[in-house]
Amino acid sequence: MILTVLGSGTSVPQRERSAPGYLVRSENRILLLDLGPGTIWNLARLSGVNPGMVQGVLLSHLHIDHCIDLAPLLFSMRAPEIEREAPLRVMGPPGLNRYYSSLRDLYGHWVEPAGYELQICEWDGETVEWEGFRISAAPTVHSVPNISFRVQDVDSRSSCIYTGDGEPTEDLIRMAGPGVNVLLAECSLGPGKIEENHMNPTQAADLATECRAEKLVLSHLNPGCYPDDVYRDAAEHFDGEIVIATDGLTISL
Ligand SMILES: [Zn+2]
Ligand SMILES: [Zn+2]
Repeated sequence: MILTVLGSGTSVPQRERSAPGYLVRSENRILLLDLGPGTIWNLARLSGVNPGMVQGVLLSHLHIDHCIDLAPLLFSMRAPEIEREAPLRVMGPPGLNRYYSSLRDLYGHWVEPAGYELQICEWDGETVEWEGFRISAAPTVHSVPNISFRVQDVDSRSSCIYTGDGEPTEDLIRMAGPGVNVLLAECSLGPGKIEENHMNPTQAADLATECRAEKLVLSHLNPGCYPDDVYRDAAEHFDGEIVIATDGLTISL
């Protein structure tokens, strides 16, 4: 399984960091985690994947910087250059159905599927299997409903957790089970900064320890979160490998 960071930033535009978006791939099986603005263009630029190749999308929450590219993704698949017949699944938090029906109200048939089946579903607490990926989810504490996802490749058994946004919950830690290969955690607060609904490097590192992660990838960095400072702070609380995400970073797990 391969994880590629398509956007390591936040809602604040930065020269080097795009809005949140991640690619999980195991051979031809492809999932996207979050769809911040620009994600589908970064997908093409950084990994050569076009939208017709994506089997599933997992949306952590409906903040604009995490989900707005759903409309361009669906619109792009109406272009004759993109051949798509396989179903596309989109799973996300409560409110996803209303979000999609609002897009349809705005954009009409341009966001409806043509020649393939679109399956939109709100997370219902169950673990699901999609295309050889086992996917479970657990809520975090955020200003809107946010779900963190655990994605496991059924064949290789490698696994990662993506937190989306927010403070950890017991459910999230329980979801890690005996451990995960990678914890991809939001770290939008700089060292020593404490705010509701987000994590700083210490909190993300503590979570990695509790999830028994082999590797911690810190992402969703705001301007002013300097990688050296973030790394140093996290390293005091987590013994495993720590990686500061950059756009285009690819990790095999
Ligand atoms: Zn958010
Ligand atoms: Zn965010």
